[in-house]
Amino acid sequence: MKTALVAGGAGFIGSFLCELLLEKGYKVFAIDNLVTGKRENIEDLLKNRNFNWIEHDITAPLHMNVSCDEIYNLASPASPVDFEKMPDFILKTSAVGHLNLLNWAKIHSAKILLASTSEVYGDPLEHPQNESYYGNVNCVGIRGCYDEGKRFAEALSMAYKRRYGVNIRIARIFNTYGPRMRPEDGRVIPNFFTQSLNGQPLTIYGDGKQTRSLCYVTDLVQGLFSLMQSEIETPTNVGNPDEYTILDIGKNVSLACGVEFRTKSFPLPENDPKQRRPDISKAQRELEWQPKVSLREGLASTLEFFKRSQNK
Ligand code: NAD
Ligand code: UDP
Repeated sequence: MKTALVAGGAGFIGSFLCELLLEKGYKVFAIDNLVTGKRENIEDLLKNRNFNWIEHDITAPLHMNVSCDEIYNLASPASPVDFEKMPDFILKTSAVGHLNLLNWAKIHSAKILLASTSEVYGDPLEHPQNESYYGNVNCVGIRGCYDEGKRFAEALSMAYKRRYGVNIRIARIFNTYGPRMRPEDGRVIPNFFTQSLNGQPLTIYGDGKQTRSLCYVTDLVQGLFSLMQSEIETPTNVGNPDEYTILDIGKNVSLACGVEFRTKSFPLPENDPKQRRPDISKAQRELEWQPKVSLREGLASTLEFFKRSQNK
């Protein structure tokens, strides 16, 4: 039986990844400090005897005497709202936290995958974004803590591969959505669902013509798993290339909720990327992976989750 350690395992994406790994027959250790994750995300998994839960902050060294084949590092707050609340902690998690996990991977000869982000491309001047693009990041802007933290973590992964031969993977994840996103998270999908279900207008930042490409969470975790099983030790985009304006995303959420599309304008946050779409030809070619869930299907499943959250 293979063993996987999932840092950030009680988070939105992390909990879906733990589920997938258990389905694939892994013994799973989920590590999380619950800064943005929730115990209820893994409540059902706790009944599975192959699932182990450890409350731990990865910025502290990890002392665990288990052998492990694969480490997935998903631990990091990821919402722009968090960038304002805890910028130093985000940087520390990407730097010290990832360093601790890399050291652990080195000692245990485990493969280690970093959940990096499309944010390493910043406000991109190339479109769509291919892995060869170096990006356009403002390191001292409000998003700098997250973008530079992930860029540093990528550089650290490459350093450990080159110097110590650690077996690394780098997934550049593009906007992902689905059930278990925190309603108060501040990202566009939780905001639009919460607002629609409460009869409020949708908050549109700027003119709403900026674009994002949304990947449903079950597609995303399949991509992460495939990347881990591959031999690819260079950054790889994982996301859905279907690109929408924020206004179009709002219209689709309103439609899914069966409410009128009404909006209220707010200023565009600093350094908010104007366009984002992954070039996933590398993942398609080398992982034989591509997303399957349409926006309509994904929004329908996500709606059920937000309805249940409202009734709690
Ligand atoms: P999330 O906030 O739901 O999950 C992150 C988890 O990490 C949380 O459970 C949190 O409590 C935990 N965590 C944070 N810092 C920690 C620390 N120091 N020690 C232990 N646990 C810690 O966010 P998510 O959307 O599921 O994102 C998961 C990962 O994927 C993040 O690394 C994020 O940067 C990356 N990512 C997500 C997206 C997206 O659209 N959701 C896009 C690009 C990259
Ligand atoms: N956005 C918006 N209204 C909201 C939340 C977000 O118009 O209530 C916009 C935001 O300005 C950005 C896009 O939606 O252009 C995606 O924002 P999110 O925070 O989800 O992710 P990110 O900016 O990190 O891609």
